[in-house]
Amino acid sequence: MLSVTAVWRNWGRTESVNPAEVVTPRGTDEVADVVARARTNGVTVKAVGSGHSFSAIAIAPEIQLDMSGQRGLVAVDTATGRATLRAGTTLREIPGLLAPYGLAMANLGDVDAQTISGATSTGTHGTGLRHGGISTQITAVQLVTGNGDVRTVDTSEPQLLSAAALGLGALGVITEVTLQCVPAFTLRAQEGPEQVDDVIDSFLEKVALHDHYEFYWFPHTGFALTKTNTRLPLDTPRSGPGVVRRLIDDEVVSNGLFRVTCEVGARFPSAVPRINSLAGNALSARTYTDASTKVFVSPRRVRFREMEYAIPLDRVPQALNEVRDMINRRGFRVSFPIEVRAAAADDLMLSTASGRDSGYVAVHRYHADPVDGYFDEVERIMADHGGRPHWGKMHTRDARHLRSVYPRFGEFLSVREELDPDRVFVNPYLASVLGD
Ligand SMILES: Cc1cc2nc3c(=O)[nH]c(=O)nc-3n(C[C@H](O)[C@H](O)[C@H](O)COP(=O)(O)OP(=O)(O)OC[C@H]3O[C@@H](n4cnc5c(N)ncnc54)[C@H](O)[C@@H]3O)c2cc1C
Repeated sequence: MLSVTAVWRNWGRTESVNPAEVVTPRGTDEVADVVARARTNGVTVKAVGSGHSFSAIAIAPEIQLDMSGQRGLVAVDTATGRATLRAGTTLREIPGLLAPYGLAMANLGDVDAQTISGATSTGTHGTGLRHGGISTQITAVQLVTGNGDVRTVDTSEPQLLSAAALGLGALGVITEVTLQCVPAFTLRAQEGPEQVDDVIDSFLEKVALHDHYEFYWFPHTGFALTKTNTRLPLDTPRSGPGVVRRLIDDEVVSNGLFRVTCEVGARFPSAVPRINSLAGNALSARTYTDASTKVFVSPRRVRFREMEYAIPLDRVPQALNEVRDMINRRGFRVSFPIEVRAAAADDLMLSTASGRDSGYVAVHRYHADPVDGYFDEVERIMADHGGRPHWGKMHTRDARHLRSVYPRFGEFLSVREELDPDRVFVNPYLASVLGD
């Protein structure tokens, strides 16, 4: 279905575009028609999800395919625990769709507004050294290739699947995703402030020990908020602060108050160190037990920009100390905490964790903060540690550099040559990170 175009903006307000045409397809056949027409006419097509990427990866200057009409469950195989979902299904919708079958996704990131195909196409991940990013849960994708063919890639073609499960939207328009789910489970969350020196020093030990461990370091202060989630059987009784109390913590302290402190920090940067200390004092320790989805995900209502790098896991402590020294040396005033996570090595061609256990260092700025070179400095440090930028977050790396940090980069380009020889799915971002 054709609709009028309007300016499209991403969540982080870092990118916008006015597509020449927007199509909201009613099914796979219509996607195939659009792609075939585009190929014949020599124009490009880009599917978009929820616009939660901070990079320009979702920019569609010519035909934008709005996949929001393609949602819901296609099938569940209860014997294998595999669920097939339409491409535009949001992560938020998935728990409700899987619940009747006693299934859940094995791991999630920290928000759930993304579509399953947008999240997996950019390598969205959570934390946990025994778990890979969301793309590693994929066992099959159905996609419309650049030739206009509808093709299902599954575990019988491991080479192709390791490209298509995390394909940057460069290989085709995904119409269905099949996930390997796990039996639904509960998580016990333990959160609280700790001394940042101890937190950095013990990071490798903690991620090895716990199912899901992460921390947020508030620059200019000596403390970090640690979050430790432990997997428990589904029937473990719920405990700790109830939904209302957690809503108050998450909405009033973590979002409402945080918005005010960020706004003050943007106007009076010199006050940021003091504000960060006050924010730290406002955070108290809490322990609670709830369904996995409710624990993994938190509301994020304060608009920000983000860059995130994956580095070899054992480099994390040194890299963080370098970031800390750099912030002090350069005098940046940073109101947003630095988020540190981990994921298991996987074998996907363009996964930030491809072939190596990875630590993730994410830096953020409040959307109204000036662009002052902070991200550039962090990027330099991460690049020195062999860093790979998150495809959905801000960075400045191009194909020449990325080829040097992804051992399977060339293999991915060969798959792209096969599935999109005419570059129907290219956009300026893909031209830069993959080359023409
Ligand atoms: C508040 C916030 C929190 C976040 N938290 C995390 C986190 O915890 N962990 C993490 O790793 N990332 C996180 N991210 C980043 C986010 O998960 C990714 O950027 C993800 O791509 C967003 O999915 P989307 O549906 O918005 O995709 P979009 O940004 O709309 O699109 C991303 C890419 O997917 C492609 N795509 C979308 N649909 C299809 C399709 N049907 N077929 C082919 N290609 C398609 C697009 O073409 C584009 O290339 C966060 C982002 C925000 C704004």
